[in-house]
Amino acid sequence: MKYITKKNLLRLTEELSSVYRVLAPVAQGGTVTFRRFHPGMTLDMHSRMAAVSAKMATLPQTESLLLVQRVEENKKPELTETLPQGKTLVMGARPCDARGKLLLDPVFITEKIRDQHFIHRRENSIFITLACDQPETTCFCHSVGSGPADTAGSDILLTLVGEGYVAQAISDQGQEIVTHSFFEDAQDRGQQAQAKHGHALELMGQAHDYSSAPAKILERFDDMDFWEVQSAKCISCGACTYMCPTCYCFNITDNDLGLTSQRIRTWDNCMSHTFTLEASGHNPRPTKAHRLKNRVGHKFSYYPDLYGGIMACCGCGRCIKQCPTGVDIRQIVNAAQEYAQ
Ligand code: SF4
Ligand code: SF4
Repeated sequence: MKYITKKNLLRLTEELSSVYRVLAPVAQGGTVTFRRFHPGMTLDMHSRMAAVSAKMATLPQTESLLLVQRVEENKKPELTETLPQGKTLVMGARPCDARGKLLLDPVFITEKIRDQHFIHRRENSIFITLACDQPETTCFCHSVGSGPADTAGSDILLTLVGEGYVAQAISDQGQEIVTHSFFEDAQDRGQQAQAKHGHALELMGQAHDYSSAPAKILERFDDMDFWEVQSAKCISCGACTYMCPTCYCFNITDNDLGLTSQRIRTWDNCMSHTFTLEASGHNPRPTKAHRLKNRVGHKFSYYPDLYGGIMACCGCGRCIKQCPTGVDIRQIVNAAQEYAQ
């Protein structure tokens, strides 16, 4: 175990920003969000969890997939795949962000589909995460197989102890970073970090057992009265999907700029009426009740059925916290689990 003071972590981040595109939590407009970090900026690692997840490191909100250039009139245009360049380092993400990143892998990297843009970003990103010592009331990571000091998906896990951080290297890349002279031996602070992890888990209370959720949600799937009650407060704003580290739906559009055009991938939002609207006017998910049951069903039923029982939710609670009308995914899954035919 290593230790780094807060001051040296900032200096390290500044140094690393000359090699990596660093994304770090930055206070902005009354909230905390991941932003491109440049020397001279300050890190806001502690005031609260960033409102938007660090998903943009591996799946950006918007990215170019292809450049189409018409060089000569009446000749075929030239197509250039615009693969991402460079490396990204995410500083100060939470363990749920790192776990969320892993949950996208089976979707974008399969035997049949190898999404080169995603793979490049995945292979060229490093996550230095911060163990949570004050879980929020909306957090439930411990109910979905994770926890406030989960190391899954992290390269280094930091734990606040005194005026600095105990640094646990998880991957080879993390191991290389902690050899920097800014790090010192953690000495007995390693035990203090362990104690903080245990305390944070205790603060979260009893974990909920979601093992029956996949089957129970399917049992209730066609009960539209149930989904209408659950979605009554929803205003279809889509905040829950955009903030979520494990939502990965996207749309592809062609941006025609005359002689040059780009094929662009952009996050999409399954809570929107237009998400499934077909050209004929038919919509297989015509109401918000249909859309909410799909979102909840995907995370707690179809994804686990496809991928070994793992929920497509890392329990970060962002969708609960950011929902303007107080829709709580935990209550919906609980209600489905309590269902008796
Ligand atoms: S954030 Fe809340 S209101 Fe907005 S779409 Fe999601 S559930 Fe509906
Ligand atoms: S569904 Fe909600 S709690 Fe689960 S990962 Fe997404 S934002 Fe976090």
